[in-house]
Amino acid sequence: MLIPKTHPRAASLHIREKLVQGYRAGLVIEEGLMAHGRGEAFDYLIGEKTSKNALRALKEAAKLLLLTENPVISVNGNVASLCPKEIVKLAKVVNAKIEVNLFYASEKRKKTIVSFLKRNGAKQILGVDPRFSRKIPRLDSARRIVDKRGIFSADVVLVPLEDGDRTIALKKLGKKVITFDLNPLSRTAQVADITIVDNVVRGMRILIEMSMKLKKKKLVADKFNNRKNLSQALVEMNNNLRRIAYA
Ligand code: ATP
Ligand code: MG
Repeated sequence: MLIPKTHPRAASLHIREKLVQGYRAGLVIEEGLMAHGRGEAFDYLIGEKTSKNALRALKEAAKLLLLTENPVISVNGNVASLCPKEIVKLAKVVNAKIEVNLFYASEKRKKTIVSFLKRNGAKQILGVDPRFSRKIPRLDSARRIVDKRGIFSADVVLVPLEDGDRTIALKKLGKKVITFDLNPLSRTAQVADITIVDNVVRGMRILIEMSMKLKKKKLVADKFNNRKNLSQALVEMNNNLRRIAYA
């Protein structure tokens, strides 16, 4: 599809197109397209730009990823389609492992995602070798499999666009969870330690830049109040709506 540069929502249409391509290539499934639609709706409400509260969460996320011993980036079909190069770059900058982890698990789709990430520069990708499969307790069958060398032994897990049940299970396993989620009301957004309420396409780039800058500094993790930051996200949405409603 040809999207004219002058189209007022060109950026959003490009993102949508990437996902459609991901769907056609077998990376994304129908449920992933619907999840994207939910995200887009919230992106409208935040004005399709990175907000102040997102920047605060991004800075805290960069610090945590740099300070932690064993961070892992969990990748699903949507995230792989939307920002493959950024995943690889971020993993390099913060020295994190990459694990393919799918809500709707399928060996074929996992392999498609792995080869797509490799074509985009990834070297090692966890989550595909059954010899290292481990089960997260209290989740049903296919959704519970993680890699012993990756998420299972990680201290911090970045799970962009993740389902609530799985985030809750990761928290019960004692993991610190960072997420990108445009919906501040989703269960994942609510239970994560750091919720970045931003489009993963915009936010990932900023997370990489911030991590590169902060890497050179002596870091101390601040006390971050995710609940307060989420409230700010809702207030900012509310202010946007009021501004538009009364314009
Ligand atoms: P939950 O299970 O956490 O209650 P849910 O069932 O509504 O949420 P899921 O499909 O489980 O939604 O999780 C995907 C999340 O990713 C959704 O909250 C959606 O708004 C969000 N999302 C979709 N696309 C993007 C994007 N491009 N950037 C950031 N977040 C996104
Ligand atoms: Mg869900």
